Amino acid sequence: MRPETLLSDLVAFPTVAGRPNGALIDYVQTYLSDHGLASTVVEGEADRFNLFATIGPVDRSGYILSGHVDVVPAEEPEWQGDPFALRHVQDRLIGRGAVDMKGFVAAILSSVPDLMQLPLSRPIHIALSYDEEAGCRGVPYLIEELPTLCAPPLGCIVGEPSGMVPVLRHKGKATVKLTARGRPGHSSRPDLGRNAIHDLLPALLATAALPDQLQMSGRRHNAFEPPHSTVQIGTIHGGQAVNIIPDHVEALIEARAVPGDDPMDLLAPVLTTAQDNGAIAAEVVASYPALDLDEKAPLVSLLSSLTGTTPLAAVSFGTEAGLFQAAGIPSIICGPGDISRAHKPEEYIAVSELRAARELAIALGHAMTE
Ligand SMILES: [Zn+2]
Repeated sequence: MRPETLLSDLVAFPTVAGRPNGALIDYVQTYLSDHGLASTVVEGEADRFNLFATIGPVDRSGYILSGHVDVVPAEEPEWQGDPFALRHVQDRLIGRGAVDMKGFVAAILSSVPDLMQLPLSRPIHIALSYDEEAGCRGVPYLIEELPTLCAPPLGCIVGEPSGMVPVLRHKGKATVKLTARGRPGHSSRPDLGRNAIHDLLPALLATAALPDQLQMSGRRHNAFEPPHSTVQIGTIHGGQAVNIIPDHVEALIEARAVPGDDPMDLLAPVLTTAQDNGAIAAEVVASYPALDLDEKAPLVSLLSSLTGTTPLAAVSFGTEAGLFQAAGIPSIICGPGDISRAHKPEEYIAVSELRAARELAIALGHAMTE
């Protein structure tokens, strides 16, 4: 099937992160089995599924082509049409997930019939995950199952949009939600209540002290801008009115970690301060490690030769590649389109970009016949 047709079908499933994705996974499984390829569905949380398939010899080590099938919401008023109905305007295919990253998924699925014709001496695996946009929540279930699904892979190519240039590094990330619960009352009698915002302040101050520390004395990696780990408070919601004692406040705090720093370790001073106060609950919303692929890794020369490009040292966005790497699988980012179009209205991928990703998958197949 042409990648444009597959993309149109995939976009029509409104698989916004956090919602069920079984219908899309069923569609992919049926498509693959129609082409004679069996696949394994790996369930994660309720109503959310990953999918894994192998083309070629299962007992040998090969390469994973990996993509997520969830998307961010599409509620921006600037959409010129239904975001879940792919529109073809000149060279652009417009729809939610077109570039991030159902386009890559469509491209590799469309290459399956071609790959199945090749005398592969090493396998090519297709790995589809859910809820990447909610903090890479789905793929850990798939990675955990990998030893039962295939021989230890030689590498993983995560097809997030990189203009088809291989990318070696990204920062890791952790997001923590702190919630403080107090006791409401009129502000004229603070002695009868408990002020949740006041309770949360020490943890917020502990957070606010971190950026300067990290900038002055944190680990440095010059591939990144800025070249150190960072922490910030992203949101605070709490209180109802100035004359009411606030009984609830919550804050989202994020750490972004250069390779070598564990993003959860960066937040340890915040969590320790929070745990000193019994009225505060901490929840890890998301956490994934940094990606840091050695320039000399065979995966780098493979992707350089397949794409005919020089690898990029680092990108500013995170991906599932860090998790594959943490599981011992050398990983690289290489996918079609530009990340700047992601998470925006009128998200699109060019037809030529879609075809280039399909060609990459087929070129990888040819490299596996040698
Ligand atoms: Zn993505």
